Amino acid sequence: MRTIRGTVVLPDGVREAAVTFDRFIVAVQVEGGAPDGTGPGATSVGAGAGPVILPGFIDTHVHGGGGADTMDGAAGVAALAAFHARHGVTTLLPTTITNPWGNVVAALRGVAEVMAEQAAAEAAGEPAGGAAAAGGAVVGAHLEGPFINPHRLGAQPPHAVEPTEGLVAEALASGVVRVVTMAPELEHATTAARTFAAAGTRVSFGHTNATAAQVIAVAEAVRASGGTVGFTHLFNAMTQLGSREPGAVGVALADPEAFAELILDLHHVHATTFRAAHAAKEGRLHLITDAIRACGMAEGVSELGGQKVMARGGAARLEDGTLAGSVLTLDRALRNAVASGVALAAASRALSGVPAAYLGLRDRGSIAVGARADLVIMSPELDVLEVIVAGRRVAG
Ligand SMILES: [Zn+2]
Repeated sequence: MRTIRGTVVLPDGVREAAVTFDRFIVAVQVEGGAPDGTGPGATSVGAGAGPVILPGFIDTHVHGGGGADTMDGAAGVAALAAFHARHGVTTLLPTTITNPWGNVVAALRGVAEVMAEQAAAEAAGEPAGGAAAAGGAVVGAHLEGPFINPHRLGAQPPHAVEPTEGLVAEALASGVVRVVTMAPELEHATTAARTFAAAGTRVSFGHTNATAAQVIAVAEAVRASGGTVGFTHLFNAMTQLGSREPGAVGVALADPEAFAELILDLHHVHATTFRAAHAAKEGRLHLITDAIRACGMAEGVSELGGQKVMARGGAARLEDGTLAGSVLTLDRALRNAVASGVALAAASRALSGVPAAYLGLRDRGSIAVGARADLVIMSPELDVLEVIVAGRRVAG
């Protein structure tokens, strides 16, 4: 049992408080017993003398980091989970990239392997990820491609295919596909979306040239099958909001139930565009990294999905200049959100509470009694001091 004190981001606001936990949070004691005047709308960074304590970050879209990539297999998954844990990520979905199908299936198996190792380690009372590579909890995979529009690849390699019944069944047989990015205009998209939704996979629209009507039609099919709708890296690699054609972006912003990911590295999306999306979708918009192997490494030549990538100036690009994932970490995304004018409590929610709700993870995403003790302890400047996964220190 351990108690930490500081400025705590709680579901009902930012307070000076003490948090007591073992594997789970067992008590939250607000100091002085009353709010310190900083409600949910306030930014109170540095208000107290102690650290800032936030719920652990949840990244639903992360290809790699620290030199490792989901496509490397189980060792890569464990290494990227350990890398991002140092930046506050306590739960993640390692994300595949469009590739020849065999490579994609092999990567899903790698994710399954790490999940099995983590489950065994947790049962044995060891740190998540095993003693060798303590990282955040891997709760599934994000299958990004190959079920995307070949004319809206972004930095995905040109191996897009139709989501036929056989391929969807094979993907689901891995048992780990928690989110699938799909272009709703594909011929087999509606049937595939129904199958994924019925299996509990979140259907996230992206890498798409769909009209708003096409997006809405497949979103309705997802919901009719009991599913949850998302949008993959909102604004990037999708049809934009126009006055007469709302595009995928328009549907994402107008649909109150739909979740949406956003890459807040300030290369993919302007800070004001983020603010506009946040104003439209607070409580449904969540921040992701979309980070690649080059994240956390020295700038220079790297790789994504078998393609040469150049990391420079805080961005990663293909040789033709196309942004290729990011070198973003979620602690930086939090700082960018706060610097753009979003209150700390709301920014924190976009990194924890919202993605937890999106994935249906009821045991995490906020600092509350009974929740998993997934915590990020930061300085008043929001630099990571320590990261705790299920009560155990994994970084700091
Ligand atoms: Zn991606």
